Amino acid sequence: MRLLVVEDDPSIAGPLRTGLTREGFDVEIAATAEEALAADIPDLVLLDLGLPDLDGRVVCREMRARSSVPIIIVTARGDEVERVTLLEAGADDFMVKPYGFRELVARIRAVLRRVTATSTATTEPSSIGPLHLDPKSRRVERDGVAVALTPREFDLLIYLATDPNAVFSRDQIIHDVWDENWWGSTKTLDVHVASLRKKIGAEMIETVRGVGFRLVDPGP
Ligand code: CA
Repeated sequence: MRLLVVEDDPSIAGPLRTGLTREGFDVEIAATAEEALAADIPDLVLLDLGLPDLDGRVVCREMRARSSVPIIIVTARGDEVERVTLLEAGADDFMVKPYGFRELVARIRAVLRRVTATSTATTEPSSIGPLHLDPKSRRVERDGVAVALTPREFDLLIYLATDPNAVFSRDQIIHDVWDENWWGSTKTLDVHVASLRKKIGAEMIETVRGVGFRLVDPGP
C-alpha cells in the first residue's frame, strides 16, 4: 500500500516515514501542496492542513476532484464546525494533533479496509434510473457523465444500492458504512447524504421521516 504523507514539518515527517515504513507501508513525503498535487495518486493520503503554500482544504478538494483516493486530514483544530467543513471538502477521516502513532495506524488501516471491503462486496455493475454504478472500478455515472464521489459517499451509495427502494435506518447505515467508534454524530450521515444528493440528483435519495433513507429506483 502506497501512502502519500503531506507534511511540511520535517520533525514530524521523518518519524512518520520511519514508523509507517516499519508498519509495511510504502511512504512518500510531500512537504508542500505543490509537491502533493504533483505526486502519483497513492492508495491513501495523509494530509496536514497547515502547509506553507496552500491551505490543506484546497489540496483536499483538488485531489478529490481528480480521484477517489481516501484522504485522512491531520489538523490542529478539532472543533465540530471544522470537522463538517473537512468532510465537505472530501476528507474521509481526520486526526487531531497531537495524536498517537498507534491510533493513526489504526485509522489508516480502517479506511483502507473499508475501501477494499466495499469494492469487493459487489462487483457487478448495475443501473438504477439514470445512475450507472461500477463497484469494481468505483465509478459512478449519471446520464453517462462521470460523477466524482468521495470514498465514503461511494460506500454509502453502493450500500443503499444493494437493495434499491428499500428503506435503511440511520442506525443501520451508520453501523454498516461507518466504523462503529468513529466520529459518533449522526450529523455526519446527513452531511454525506446532502453532498451525495448534490452530485447524483436530489430525487435519487429519499428521506423516510423518523426512519432513514432509501435509494429511489424509478424502474424501467
Ligand atoms: Ca504543517
